[in-house]
Amino acid sequence: MSQGESHTRAGIIAVAQALDAAGLVPNKSGNVSCRSADGFLITPAGVPYRELVPADIVESSLTGAAEEHARRPSSEWRMHAAIYADRPDAAAIVHTHSPRATALACAGRGIPPFHYMIALAGGEIRCMPYATFGTAELAATAVQGLEGRRATLLANHGVIAIGSSLGEAHAVALEVENLAGQYLALLAADLEPRLLDAAELQRVTTKFADYGRLKA
Ligand SMILES: [Zn+2]
Repeated sequence: MSQGESHTRAGIIAVAQALDAAGLVPNKSGNVSCRSADGFLITPAGVPYRELVPADIVESSLTGAAEEHARRPSSEWRMHAAIYADRPDAAAIVHTHSPRATALACAGRGIPPFHYMIALAGGEIRCMPYATFGTAELAATAVQGLEGRRATLLANHGVIAIGSSLGEAHAVALEVENLAGQYLALLAADLEPRLLDAAELQRVTTKFADYGRLKA
């Protein structure tokens, strides 16, 4: 294993454990992956995040042929493979069942552009129709939801976030949960959010690139 790959495996574990500690991947849900030379590296199925060691991370090709490995890849490997195939800009993917965003997804509600931080996700966050976990149908749905975006909600399921690095995909996933909490607070108070328009979101995106929040 190269030094770069060991570093990537450790990075995937660090993100998975941070999500777990923050309560964003309850009951071993969610998964984290990073693009590799021949495919991607992904968290395994069924191993508690706190117990993960670098050798547990599974390498998979984009067609899903896992390398000879003691662990099975996450049941959502198809979703990761489909996104890497469709999005050359995605270097890492974070999938969560983070509670507040998942609550909105269970009502089929996306997140409108009511706060400028939504520019991290590329604009309004869609909520895509339900499909069974682990299926090619869900993979196709996720790809569609991510069109022109870095995050999407999956109805009755959770969140998928992508980034040009593991850190960026993690930051987008955290921001989706944060925005979902703010949106739920607005809905609970029966307040109508005032939305930002596309020109303002573009301005914010440019500023984010300047400040290094996002790669332009
Ligand atoms: Zn899931």
